[in-house]
Amino acid sequence: MDIPFNQPYIGEEERSSVAEAVEQDILHGDGPISERVQSFLEGWLQVDHAFLTTSCTHALEMAMITLGIEAGDEVIMPSFTFVSTANAVVLRGANPVFAEIKPDTLNLDPEAVAEKITPRTKAIVPIHYGGVACDMDAFTELAEVHDLFLIEDAAQCVDAYYRGQALGTIGDIGCYSFHDTKNITSGEGGAFLTNDDEIAKRGEIVREKGTNRSAFYRGEVDKYSWVNEGSSYIQSDVLAALLEAQLGKRDEIRRKRKEVWDAYRDALEPLAECGLIELQTIPEYADPNYHLFYLRTNTPEERDELLSALKKSGVQATFHYVPLHSSPYGRNTLNCKADLPVTQRCSETLIRLPLYPQLADQAELIANFVRDVISRNISN
Ligand SMILES: *Cc1c(COP(=O)(O)O)cnc(C)c1O
Repeated sequence: MDIPFNQPYIGEEERSSVAEAVEQDILHGDGPISERVQSFLEGWLQVDHAFLTTSCTHALEMAMITLGIEAGDEVIMPSFTFVSTANAVVLRGANPVFAEIKPDTLNLDPEAVAEKITPRTKAIVPIHYGGVACDMDAFTELAEVHDLFLIEDAAQCVDAYYRGQALGTIGDIGCYSFHDTKNITSGEGGAFLTNDDEIAKRGEIVREKGTNRSAFYRGEVDKYSWVNEGSSYIQSDVLAALLEAQLGKRDEIRRKRKEVWDAYRDALEPLAECGLIELQTIPEYADPNYHLFYLRTNTPEERDELLSALKKSGVQATFHYVPLHSSPYGRNTLNCKADLPVTQRCSETLIRLPLYPQLADQAELIANFVRDVISRNISN
């Protein structure tokens, strides 16, 4: 076997879409292609405002600036997440507060979040791990009761749903990633989503270097100038063209990813039933996008052995996040004292398997091969 961990699913559609975009006179962002993609996202996701951004990292930064997160504020999030969730808060001089996750989905635990709320708390940032929805009714209620902003780090969630509603469109702001490790890609890219007109108005300014240039282009003001803090978060039309071609293939991408996911599930379920490994739970409210397939071993030692056995047999499986509270920056600079045993344990026992559309044709073969490697390395 020779199975890389990830491969972007790029073909003729993407190549010709980018080539056409380069032929146009407009290469900067918010040109005709970006406008088309943004309108498409608004219709498809049923969200009032979608802004393409340079990345999800930047969409998260935009969210913190737009909501006025500042020094001394606290923002509750999982420790089991990508650094960008926390960096967006740290860059404002505010404090990320890490709360525990649930062992069945690795998603933020609403009860653990409730315990971390203080008078300084301004926002909650759930991430939907692997495109599997968090318990959004619980977070929406917490945010309402305590008057907090709810920001969804929906980086992994394009085409994933909570009770039929697109992830990223439920909180005050949702942030998507189109990085080439995600289901739908523009190489680098992201989106900032909101249903709140006021947030959209402020976000548009933050995204345009703190100016009202967007209003100027629409003819609403006769000159534009510096009106707020901001930065440059607008994605080029050339990348939007790549994204547009990918979005056109969204059903095919989802179907093929599901085939691979289902094959892993079918092959590994018997091992899970014997208690040799644990598989991801999909709650009844979640309709996932098959962003990733993971399993957990019973001990960290088993995980490390299984990872190297899989690699030796040519399957580039991999671990995932090192919890942020126990990272060098978290411990030494933020001085995190959080005690998060579930987070720690899950991080140390997790293995992600290769999952992308190109594997669909041999899904069963690969899944059975992986099952055999696991059986050999865990049961004895
Ligand atoms: C990928 C990812 C990000 C960062 O996305 P970029 O577009 O690469 O900036 C942020 N948060 C989570 C949970 C992610 O998976």
